Amino acid sequence: MSSTVHFASARDDKGISLAEKLSRIYDRAGLGGCIARGDLVAIKVHVGEPGNLAFVPPQLVKVVVDKVIAAGATPFLTDANTLYTGGRSNGAVHARSAVLNGFGYAVTGAPFIVADGLTGHDSVTVPIEGVLLKEALIASAVARADAMIVVSHFKGHGLAGFGGAIKNLGMGCACRKGKQIQHSDVKPRVRADRCISCRRCYRACPASAISMAGGKASISPDSCIGCGECVVWCRNGAIRPNWDEGAPGNLQRRMAEYALGAVAGKGGKVGYVNVAIRISPDCDCGPVNDVPVVGDIGIMTSLDPVAIDRACSDMVVAASGVPGSACQHAGQSDDKFKAVHKHVDWSVQLAHAEAIGLGSQDYVVEKLS
Ligand code: SF4
Ligand code: SF4
Repeated sequence: MSSTVHFASARDDKGISLAEKLSRIYDRAGLGGCIARGDLVAIKVHVGEPGNLAFVPPQLVKVVVDKVIAAGATPFLTDANTLYTGGRSNGAVHARSAVLNGFGYAVTGAPFIVADGLTGHDSVTVPIEGVLLKEALIASAVARADAMIVVSHFKGHGLAGFGGAIKNLGMGCACRKGKQIQHSDVKPRVRADRCISCRRCYRACPASAISMAGGKASISPDSCIGCGECVVWCRNGAIRPNWDEGAPGNLQRRMAEYALGAVAGKGGKVGYVNVAIRISPDCDCGPVNDVPVVGDIGIMTSLDPVAIDRACSDMVVAASGVPGSACQHAGQSDDKFKAVHKHVDWSVQLAHAEAIGLGSQDYVVEKLS
């Protein structure tokens, strides 16, 4: 059976703001039905790494906050700490980054609570019926919330091809150890001919797996925990994931299985908002964001995380590449994510999520009229 995805265009086609459009398609998708009076409601966000400006604007998140309050429930914004070091790697810096990027109470109307606590250890072990995994380590504030609205920025991603609702659930709701489990196959390699010995990767590696002996970076596979941080921090393309080990596929499959863990126990009280604007080629976890690869598309809402991601990915593929972007040579119907992340088959996360019962790739779009 098809899942319904509600869509509001980013075009100023109705003389109403994007926030008002979100309000309307929130109601039309029945997201309010996920929430009962008195519920503690997690609004899962990604506040953006400091320096990155592509994340979902906090003014749109406030629309969801207001809906939850109007339903007589208590909302809180939440995200789990990152595996890599940076502006969101522990509860203290994460909370500070949230405020710096505009996710303070004065803007959103809800507190930001780091889901897995000060050091990323606060988690609940959730049994799951996955193919690769039988349990998921879900950040406590997510696991203990009565209901959840998942607000995701839809954009590209270096290891998963794209990031949307499934990634926001699977990777975004996992505690740090859970993130490491999902990344465990990603053991990057250094291309010595491209290494300029800047030591950025060496300073960033949380496992001390990188040596600068001989002047060039080299990675010890035995020490590497596969977090991928060095890939993000190397600006010279000298460190790439080891595509020979099937890493991207398994990462996506584990991510989908962790998404099952994130929604477990909520009795279907989870709704999804995908914001497909500022569609950067890479994730909001990077310290910079590149030029969008396609123009702004709009906002979608659904009760199905697989359907909403499938619908978004189909719209991105169908759009024209933006001149001057990483997709400037990609034409209409060319795969924009594949054009940027050549080694990644992003369809894996959708197919696996569907196979394990997270949702359906079969969807119908209801446009805001
Ligand atoms: S960040 Fe890249 S260029 Fe700099 S030392 Fe590491 S591998 Fe070499
Ligand atoms: S070498 Fe391994 S552990 Fe160190 S940053 Fe890179 S992926 Fe992470």
